[in-house]
Amino acid sequence: MTNKYIYFIANWKMFGNLRTLNSLNKVISFVKKFNKNKLKLIYCPPTTLISPLKDKLKLTSIDIGAQNCHESDVYGANTGQVNSKMLKSVGAKYVIIGHSENRQLGENNHLINLKIKSSIKSGLKIIFCIGESLSQKKKGTTKKILLQQITQGLKNIKNKKNIFIAYEPIWAIGSGLIPRDSEIFEIVKFIKHKVKGSKVLYGGSVSLKNINVLKKINNVDGFLVGGASQNSKNFIDIIKKTFN
Ligand code: PEP
Repeated sequence: MTNKYIYFIANWKMFGNLRTLNSLNKVISFVKKFNKNKLKLIYCPPTTLISPLKDKLKLTSIDIGAQNCHESDVYGANTGQVNSKMLKSVGAKYVIIGHSENRQLGENNHLINLKIKSSIKSGLKIIFCIGESLSQKKKGTTKKILLQQITQGLKNIKNKKNIFIAYEPIWAIGSGLIPRDSEIFEIVKFIKHKVKGSKVLYGGSVSLKNINVLKKINNVDGFLVGGASQNSKNFIDIIKKTFN
């Protein structure tokens, strides 16, 4: 895996403020020295930090993503919501859609499908999250669930060129647990078979402790990193270990 182009996507969730952005100076100098043909780094901060982050990253190869959006690309009376067009206008190039933390709040596959369509229309690239719960895994229904999420989430979307699929088992998120490497390989193979030509990322408790195992899974195109991306030094160390 270390010879190919790897995506690292930092999902900051609901953490961070203007002061936190200073911690990215380390990441910026690290990335400047790094081979651009090997690493693509994308930060997904809370919406409040997209614009200041854009200023901070303007001379770098690091891109910005948002963490969610409203399903309509038309401006409207939707208090508290932000749509894909607005995100694009302040500097986001990517948007995470279908994260399990939002699915748990009631986002279903149909809504996710609308969000993906509107984001494509606005010119954003999509990080489409799918994953099974622990009970689904125990029942042996992981592939069935993933296939439902893929089929319904990507319904009537012909051009999938700008869609990255992030396989994030719900039980692995924030738990310190990860699937066996053979399981990740098998699931990524399954996803790539169902969505031809797709780039597939793994997410869920990626850390310094497990990156040596994860980096060897040779069909994985990169990682979506939550908790471990919030400390810049830790995040850089994970990236360095991936390429060592
Ligand atoms: C995530 O929530 O997208 C994620 C990958 O979280 P963590 O790395 O903290 O498990």
